[in-house]
Amino acid sequence: MTEFTVGSVLVTGSNRGIGLGLVKRFLELPNPPEWIFATTRELAGSQSKDASESPVLSVDVTDPNSIKAAAQRVEQHVQGHGLNLLINNAGIARVTTMENENADTMGIVYLTNTVGPLLVSQEFLPLLKKAAQQSTQTGLSCSKAAILNMSSIAASIEVVPVWEFWKMPSYRCSKAALNMVTKCQSLEYKNCGILCTSIHPGWVKTRLGTEKAPQTVEETTQAILKMLSTLSEKENGSFVGWDRQIYPW
Ligand code: NDP
Repeated sequence: MTEFTVGSVLVTGSNRGIGLGLVKRFLELPNPPEWIFATTRELAGSQSKDASESPVLSVDVTDPNSIKAAAQRVEQHVQGHGLNLLINNAGIARVTTMENENADTMGIVYLTNTVGPLLVSQEFLPLLKKAAQQSTQTGLSCSKAAILNMSSIAASIEVVPVWEFWKMPSYRCSKAALNMVTKCQSLEYKNCGILCTSIHPGWVKTRLGTEKAPQTVEETTQAILKMLSTLSEKENGSFVGWDRQIYPW
């Protein structure tokens, strides 16, 4: 495993899928973060054994009150330290077509995949800024302070992959808009010492990615952690894959 070290990490949507895999990989690091905040939107209803065995925060990214409450709890835990790494991983997809896409599906997917990461980032910004200020590192890195938005190559306007099989305009549009959120964050927060990057995790066997996907959560999350350890100001405001490739917007 990589020698990546980071003091504190929060991952949204980490009761299953890629989010849970990321939390596990952080725990497996030779020097794991002092604070790893796993989150789920439905604490009481969570079916995940792994999540229920560790301290988990309740975050529904469509509910500003839950985001605010989680930021307060994180602030209490870290006791004067900031939050180094925020991973906006939570996301949904609706298997829609150009014919049946409607305002409801467009709305809920946009609210979850685009507005959610924006609101979560706003709420955790003071803690991210604090982490950046307290760091002795120069430049930008995930160990210092970073916002990583889990995007998808499905959102690439240049590539538009697998159009013949899945249309899903709400999903593609929401992640394309998330990429613009990343770009705006990168411009706004660069001078605060916060790295902001969109991530493509590959095509991964999860409920969202389906069983047809070629990659396992373990493979992908191991690769993502290696990739995170290499990110610097060069990747600020860009779209980086699990395989360290820069993807076209
Ligand atoms: P899963 O469906 O396995 O997991 C999605 C996670 O997001 C779950 O923990 C889910 O919680 C959570 N979530 C959904 N809505 C909300 C909400 N409103 N508030 C908080 N949490 C929420 O998907 P993946 O693990 O595959 O996806 C993770 C991210 O990776 C997503 O952003 C996805 O778009 C992206 N991605 C995935 C790919 C893949 O091939 N798997 C490819 C490209 C991108 P709950 O259990 O409560 O539903």
